[in-house]
Amino acid sequence: MTILITGANRGIGRALTEAYRAAGETVIATARTPAAGEIALDVADPASVASLPDRIGTTAIDLLVCNAGVYLDKGQGMDGYPAQMWAHTFAVNVTGVFLCIQALLPALRAAKGKIAIISSQMASQEKAPGGSYIYRASKAAALNLGRNLAQDLAPEGIAVGIYHPGWVRTDMGGGAADISTQEAVEGLMARFAALSPQTTGCFQTWDGRPHPF
Ligand code: NDP
Repeated sequence: MTILITGANRGIGRALTEAYRAAGETVIATARTPAAGEIALDVADPASVASLPDRIGTTAIDLLVCNAGVYLDKGQGMDGYPAQMWAHTFAVNVTGVFLCIQALLPALRAAKGKIAIISSQMASQEKAPGGSYIYRASKAAALNLGRNLAQDLAPEGIAVGIYHPGWVRTDMGGGAADISTQEAVEGLMARFAALSPQTTGCFQTWDGRPHPF
C-alpha cells in the first residue's frame, strides 16, 4: 500500500509515517521543510501542491492522509482574530486540503484509493462552546468539504472519511492532552483500514465512535 501524508515531519503526521513504515507500507512523507526521506509540500502554496503529481511520478496512491494543520488562535481574546490569521488558517486547513485532493485525484483513481481528512472535534456544530473561532470554522469547513467530496467521489469508489484524532500530546495538543501520538495513530490506522464505500462521509473519533456533526 502507498500512503501519502501531509505534515509528516512532526506530531500525528510523523507518528503515522513511522507506524505505517514499521508495518511495511510505502509512505510518501511530505513536509513544508523536508528532511531526509521527505518530499517538499507546502499545502498553503498552490504552486507547491500543483507540482506534487509530477514530483511523485506515476505512483498510484492507496491512501491520502490530509493531516497538515495549524491552530493559530488558541487563547485569542474577542478583540483578537486578525484577518491575516483567518486567511492563513483557511489556506492550510481548508484550501490546502482541497487542493491536495484535487491534485492527487489521478493518483488516487489509479488505485481506487481512499482519503482521510484530519479535522477535529472542534468542527462540530452540535458542540459549540465558543472561542477559537478561526480554528473551529476551518475544521468545520474541512468536515463539510469531506462530506461533499464523499458524495462526488462515491461513483468512482473513492471513499472519504473525516476524523477527530483525539486530544493528542503534540506541539498543537500540548503536554496536558489525553493521549499519546502512538495511541492516536493506532486508532486512526484502524479507522482508515475500515473506511469503505459503505462508510464514506463518516465523521469518527480515533477510537471508532461516530462524532456528532
Ligand atoms: P502539530 O502542530 O504537531 O503538527 C502540525 C503539522 O502540520 C506539522 O508537520 C506542520 O509542519 C504541518 N503544517 C503546518 N502548516 C503546513 C503547511 N502550510 N504545509 C505543510 N504542512 C504544514 O499538530 P498535530 O500533529 O497535533 O496535528 C495534526 C492534525 O491533527 C492537524 O490537522 C490538527 O488540526 C489535527 N488535530 C490535532 C489535535 C491534537 O490534539 N493534537 C486535536 C484535533 C485535531 P511544520 O513543522 O512545517 O510547521
